Amino acid sequence: MSIARQATRFETLAVHGGERRPGPEGSLVFPIYQGTVYTYEPGTDYHELKYIRLNSTPSQKYLNDKLASLEGAEAALATASGMAALTTTLLTLLKQGDHFLAADCLYGGTSDFIAQRAAGLGLSCTSVNVQDPSSWAAAVRPETRLFLLETITNPTMRVPRLKEVRDFARERKLLTVIDNTFASPVNFRPLAAGYDLVFHSATKYLNGHSDLVAGCVMGRRDLVDSIRRSLNLFGGTIDPHATFLLARGVKTLALRVRAANANGMALARFFAGHPAVAQVNYPGLETHPDHAHAREFLSGFGGMLSLRLKGGVAAADRLLSELRLPYVAPSLGGVETLITRPALTSHAGMSVEDRRRSGVSDDLLRISCGIEHPDDLVEDFRRALELIAV
Ligand code: PLP
Repeated sequence: MSIARQATRFETLAVHGGERRPGPEGSLVFPIYQGTVYTYEPGTDYHELKYIRLNSTPSQKYLNDKLASLEGAEAALATASGMAALTTTLLTLLKQGDHFLAADCLYGGTSDFIAQRAAGLGLSCTSVNVQDPSSWAAAVRPETRLFLLETITNPTMRVPRLKEVRDFARERKLLTVIDNTFASPVNFRPLAAGYDLVFHSATKYLNGHSDLVAGCVMGRRDLVDSIRRSLNLFGGTIDPHATFLLARGVKTLALRVRAANANGMALARFFAGHPAVAQVNYPGLETHPDHAHAREFLSGFGGMLSLRLKGGVAAADRLLSELRLPYVAPSLGGVETLITRPALTSHAGMSVEDRRRSGVSDDLLRISCGIEHPDDLVEDFRRALELIAV
């Protein structure tokens, strides 16, 4: 039995899952197979030829095994980006004429893809309020095939009714596809909870060092195999150096996410008690509207939070300019704390009306906690908030 099969605890899986033991030449670290092409036996199926765009090189297979073990999946597929994972998954599972349900607050790129491309491809989509199960049945049609959602919404930090979504989809034989980027498998493992497919922007927590772009999708082997065949045609293949860096990043995932969870909680509590803060969105706070059901499914509340200051956009911009520790930058999930105003970055592509409807106000600030010491982060925010109050 492989080490990955024996191990049930996440820290051990992150290090040992998918590892070849012994590795090539006895190496503990799986090397980068830079080669694009390999010899084949006569009669090999086209999709099994070892060629880099066919996602079948030793580096790609090793990484896929490692990623599968993280989410407890039968199979995984690494892709060139999170968007490649999402679009390849949707375009594999849906065909012209199909309809799907999507959470009404999704990552900007995902919602832009739906708004700008789905109809042209013959797909229709209905946005649903994932906090309100009573509203979903009315949106289902005979041609509805799947339910797309995120574990924690970006940047409003709402947690959908994860149990109800699963049960609703099962009853109607809809596939559930969940973007688990914000939670990471440290805080939530959707497949164990009964979801069909989970995908990530691996650019974020899975890698964790803000130095590569990648994505992945995990789930049942037949589903992942068919997504791989699409990816082989669409071409969104991960490159060898990124496979190496991503597998390395994954080994420390549990430690990094636990530190980010602790920082998220520390900052959320600090902001909740600060007089200059109008609103804090963090599912770990007891006052958060989704706290009770989030507790049932999540083992940690993550390192992402958002807030609004009483001074609105002007105060938000001043805070950005006074902070010393966090970088003012989009993206998330790295070891360094980042802060951004989503209306100008991740959600800038949305229409103003859609943005407002999704709760992304112009003055909303989003923080991605890194792994610094929580006291240093709190101190920096305290100092910057004092300065802007003057
Ligand atoms: N899903 C979420 C929640 C994201 O935040 C992002 C990117 O920010 C994506 C998907 C897309 O990932 P990528 O930028 O790796 O294509």
